[in-house]
Amino acid sequence: MSRHDPTTNAELMSREGVPPLPTRRPAMPFQDAAKLSLADSQLRFNMGKATTTIRGKRVKAVEELPDWEALREAGRAIKERTLRHLDKYLLQLEASVARVGGKVHWAADAEDANRIVAGLVKSHGAREVVKIKSLTTDEIGLNEALAHEGIRAYETDLAELIIQLADERSSHILVPAIHKSRAEIRELFRRTLENTEGLSDDPKELAAAARAHLRKKFLTVPVAVSGVNFGVADTGTVCIVESEGNGRMCLTLPKVLISVMGIEKLVPSWRDLEVFLQLLPRSSTAERMNPYTSFWTGIAPPGDGPDEFHLILLDDGRTKVLGDQVGRQALNCIRCSACLNICPVYERTGGHAYNSVYPGPIGAILTPQLVGVEHAGSLPYASSLCGACYEVCPVKINIPEVLVHLRGQVVRKKQEHLRGRLSPENVAMKMLGRVFSSPRRFAAFQKMGRQGQKMMVKGGVIERLPGYLGGWTSVRDVYPVAPQTFREWWQQRERRPQAPSKPKQPPREETRP
Ligand code: SF4
Repeated sequence: MSRHDPTTNAELMSREGVPPLPTRRPAMPFQDAAKLSLADSQLRFNMGKATTTIRGKRVKAVEELPDWEALREAGRAIKERTLRHLDKYLLQLEASVARVGGKVHWAADAEDANRIVAGLVKSHGAREVVKIKSLTTDEIGLNEALAHEGIRAYETDLAELIIQLADERSSHILVPAIHKSRAEIRELFRRTLENTEGLSDDPKELAAAARAHLRKKFLTVPVAVSGVNFGVADTGTVCIVESEGNGRMCLTLPKVLISVMGIEKLVPSWRDLEVFLQLLPRSSTAERMNPYTSFWTGIAPPGDGPDEFHLILLDDGRTKVLGDQVGRQALNCIRCSACLNICPVYERTGGHAYNSVYPGPIGAILTPQLVGVEHAGSLPYASSLCGACYEVCPVKINIPEVLVHLRGQVVRKKQEHLRGRLSPENVAMKMLGRVFSSPRRFAAFQKMGRQGQKMMVKGGVIERLPGYLGGWTSVRDVYPVAPQTFREWWQQRERRPQAPSKPKQPPREETRP
C-alpha cells in the first residue's frame, strides 16, 4: 500500500493482503480480552476521560426536558408495537419505497446482503464506494466482502476513517476511535495522508486534513453505501442521523445510493420520528438537536441527488431474536450509546474487549442473541448488573433482565453439553442448595467456615480461596464469616435476663371543677 493511498484499507488491492472475511463470533472470551485492555493504562485514561465527559453532558441535556420520562415511555411503546406487527410494517415499507421510485431487496443473512451490494456496485461498472458510518454494514463485514470483489470502500465519517487508516476495529458505537488520543491520531495521519508534514494535534487541523482527503472521494466516487437510523413504513423514507455532514455529501453527490437497514430499524409512521429525534441526540451526543438529519424518500428529480435508490432489508438473525419474549427488547435499540458511556465495565475495558461490532451493555445482550449464546463466550457475564444502563436507556430496554435471561441460557447449554454428568460446579451448587435450604445446616456451615477461614483472613478479608473457589477470588476479595452471626447475636440476646418492667401507673382520676 502506498503511503499516500491509505483508504485501500490494509493492503486491500494487493490481493494476498485482502483481509479474511470476518467471523461474527467473538474470537477471545471477554474475561481474557478484558485483562489485556486493563493492562493498557493509556487506554484506561482515554476511556475514563471520554466517557466521564459524555456522561456529564447527557445528564444536563436530559434534565432540560420536563417530559423526558414520558418520551422514553413513548419510544418504548412505539418500538414494541412495531415489533409486534413487524411483518405488516415491512411489507408496507416495501410498497412505499417502490411507490417513490426505489427498490427493496431482502437479505436473509450477511452473505446475502454483501452479495447484493457487490452486485449493484459492479452493475454500474464501479470499483469504489463512499460510505456513511454504519454499524449494520460493520456487522455483516461489508468492507471486507467488497474488498474480496475488488471494490474499495472509503469510510467518510472522521472517526471511521481513523479506524480504517489504522486498520483497527471500532471500540464505541458512536465514537469508534474513542480509545485514541489526539497525538495518536496526528501520528496516524502523518503516516498515511498526503500533505500532512508539520500537522499538529489541534482538532481543527486534524479535521481539515481528513476533509481535504475526503472531498476528492465525494466528487469522484459514483456509488454511496449507508446504513439507516430509521425507515418509515408509511412514506418509504429513510432517515440518516450524523454529525459531520459527510452523510449529506454521500446522499446527494453519488449517482447511486444503497442503504442497508436492519429490519428492526422500522417505525410505522412519519409522526413517530418526533419521539426518536428527541430521544436520540440527547442520549448520544447530548445535543438538543442532531446537526445533520437527512431524510431520503425515493429518487430525487434528475440532477438533484442519486438517480437510483436501493434499500436492502437485512434479517441476519433478527427474526430469531424476535421469537424470544425476553430477549427481543434488544431489537428496540436506537444505537445511542448511552449505556456504554454509563457502564463501569465498559469504561474500564473499552470496546475491543467485547470482540463484537456492538460493544458495551447493548453488545452483551445483542451479540449473543445474533450469533447464539454458545458462540458468544462470556459476553452475558460482562456486566456487574448494577442497572445503570437500564436507567439511561432512552427506550427503556431492561438490559439487566436480558443479561440474567441469557446467563440462564448459557447454564442450560452447559448442562445439555454435560448430558447428565456432574461437573465440579454442579456438585458445589447441589451442596450449597442443601445447606441453604436448612437453617440448622446453614448455621453449622457458618461455624465450620469460621474455623476453616482462620489461616486465610488477612487484613479483614480473604484474598485467595483454595481450589476451584480460587476463580472467585482471582478478581475480588471475600469478606470472612463474621465472628458472631445475626442469629447467634439474637439467641444470646434472648438468653440474657430481661430487666423488670416498670409497674403500670394507675389511671389518673378526673377532677371536676
Ligand atoms: S440499549 Fe438503549 S442505551 Fe444502549 S445503545 Fe441501545 S438505545 Fe442506547
